[in-house]
Amino acid sequence: MQSRLRDGERTVEAPASDDAGLHFIGRIRTPWTRRADCPRQGRQDGPDCRIELFDPWGDALLGIEDYDQLEILYWLDRSRRDLVIQNPKNDGKRFVGTFALRSPQRPNPIGTASVRLMGVEGHCLIVRGLDCLDGTPLVDIKPDRCDFSPEAPWKAADQTPPE
Ligand code: SAM
Repeated sequence: MQSRLRDGERTVEAPASDDAGLHFIGRIRTPWTRRADCPRQGRQDGPDCRIELFDPWGDALLGIEDYDQLEILYWLDRSRRDLVIQNPKNDGKRFVGTFALRSPQRPNPIGTASVRLMGVEGHCLIVRGLDCLDGTPLVDIKPDRCDFSPEAPWKAADQTPPE
């Protein structure tokens, strides 16, 4: 369900949302069923959450246990997608453009979080650091940039040759 507009917030006529081919690769299980209960940003000392991969993507977790930190991309599926100006404090005073915020209300409601990998159970990951509602669709999983060194061959555009 879309959230209600606050006084002074501005929307646009958003285009139909079927113009990108994205499919969800899994589902995120968290303790939160109401937006009001979710943290605004996940904390790595927060509760264990479970990322469940759908078939046939489970095998794509091969090697993931080598990483402590992962980047998770998810689809904030219960967001409005037409807001351009927002009133984050709901005070009718401070108005901010959508792209100057990490609000879930955005034209393509992609959420990202850096999480700590606590365990791998078959085709599921146990992680800490999420902030999304239970059942939020999963878009992608990547090793965190800081932990990751490319495994593909070096190329000139990488600038620093491997040691
Ligand atoms: N960490 C992500 C980011 O920075 O891209 C998301 C941050 S956003 C501020 C997190 C908030 O989005 C939560 O506190 C909750 O109010 C809301 N939210 C969580 N899951 C959602 C969902 N599936 N659909 C819409 N809103 C959601």
